[in-house]
Amino acid sequence: MSASGQDKDACGPVRMCCICRQRLPQDQLLRHVRAVKASEEQEAGNGFVPDPRRRMPGRGLYVCDRPECRERFLRRGDGRKKR
Ligand SMILES: [Zn+2]
Repeated sequence: MSASGQDKDACGPVRMCCICRQRLPQDQLLRHVRAVKASEEQEAGNGFVPDPRRRMPGRGLYVCDRPECRERFLRRGDGRKKR
């Protein structure tokens, strides 16, 4: 983890939507982790699978519940260019 790591705001942990950058309470965001198995990759189509229970290992990415963000995430993953 990097940057400001201020997770303790008013109440509970806060996470940032990886698409719109809006900061929201963790329970209002859906966690995704990078898929490790080929079968899992097919579920999301972008290399990530949803992790509603937040129990899967690996780097988590959070997406808010706006349809726009969900759709963009499914298409592009975390929205950052990695190459
Ligand atoms: Zn969002």
